[in-house]
Amino acid sequence: MAFIADRLSRIKPSPTIAVTTKAAELKAAGVDVIGLGAGEPDFDTPDNIKEAAKAALDAGKTKYTPVAGTPELRKAIVEKFKRENDLEYTIDEITVGCGGKQTLFNAFFATLNPGDEVVIPAPYWVSYPDMALMAEGTPVIVECQEANDFKITASELEAAITPKTKWVVLNSPSNPTGSAYSREELRAIADVLLKYENVYVMSDDMYEHLVYDGFEFTTIAQVEPKLKDRTLTCNGVSKSYAMTGWRLGYAAGPKDLIKAINKVQSQSSTHTSSISQAASIEALSGPQDFLAERAEVFKKRRDLVVAALNECEGLSCKTPEGAFYVYPSCAGAIGKTTPDGKKIETDTDFVTYLLEAEGVAAVQGSAFGLAPYFRISYATSDAALTEACARIKRACAALK
Ligand code: PLP
Repeated sequence: MAFIADRLSRIKPSPTIAVTTKAAELKAAGVDVIGLGAGEPDFDTPDNIKEAAKAALDAGKTKYTPVAGTPELRKAIVEKFKRENDLEYTIDEITVGCGGKQTLFNAFFATLNPGDEVVIPAPYWVSYPDMALMAEGTPVIVECQEANDFKITASELEAAITPKTKWVVLNSPSNPTGSAYSREELRAIADVLLKYENVYVMSDDMYEHLVYDGFEFTTIAQVEPKLKDRTLTCNGVSKSYAMTGWRLGYAAGPKDLIKAINKVQSQSSTHTSSISQAASIEALSGPQDFLAERAEVFKKRRDLVVAALNECEGLSCKTPEGAFYVYPSCAGAIGKTTPDGKKIETDTDFVTYLLEAEGVAAVQGSAFGLAPYFRISYATSDAALTEACARIKRACAALK
């Protein structure tokens, strides 16, 4: 339609939201669908956080707040970074947005000129390339190897950097693979970045608290303090605190960058909900014990899913360090034929087959920039996961 801006032709709607919506529609139509597409914990927001929201309402905290977030919340975020990441920030180095998604978008929008490059390791969270494109930047996709657990190596990174590179995106633990970078791996990446003074790092730490088997989470500004002045360390309450609907994410970085992000936000959403901000102070400053308890539940589900998928003909699945996703290869199913005679040529064909034949909704790897794989979110009950894996096994066995 001529009325729609050209910039929208460069981007696509989120494919993960599309799968979740399709699964919900099929369910509503009475089809027995198990949705493994969602990127949100199935747990509820903890009661102490809900109580803080109710108290904020009763206290009349229902007015506009500063664009960057209330001083109390930013102070709680400063303390979180100090306590958990050994990073020292002041409150004017913190910004709060409507979810991590908005903060990341604002950062690209505030910094990218046409043609500026953003290095994005694939498989990637679906929004990074489209956000960069919307801001008129150029995504530079680096396909990472399964043999290196889908993580970018120092030499791959160095080969991708050009004089036009403005940002390098790091996401650990990763959506969609669950892989996380060790301190040594971040050290090697930092050594490359130290050589390129004009390159900034976007460190998306959204899944920080979802790590298993004693994995030590670290973030790049902590591993190499010399990079702190050109790193935007992003985080949020959505995944760790089961607060996806509250829409609150935050980031810490150099003052000028934070100021630019706030300028963008001041002319769009202004700020996220005052009630969500009050609740997030309790999330970040209140009791934290449930984080480990929930991580233990996720770890058990990960083990259940990985074991079951590795029993499926044609699939192979690594055991990732964190998040609530696995990213199995379906290479062994490609080239086979379904019982009703359709040839599986791509991972999109494979997930379509899973949905149509067995009512299991997963997301094709090509949506995340690396095929032939698919992503399963295991943020759902053990019973649903067991049943879904049995169906996937049956679907794989029926391929000829
Ligand atoms: N970053 C990653 C890697 C994600 O997976 C998500 C959500 O799916 C986000 C950022 C954004 O989360 P939110 O906007 O809910 O804070």
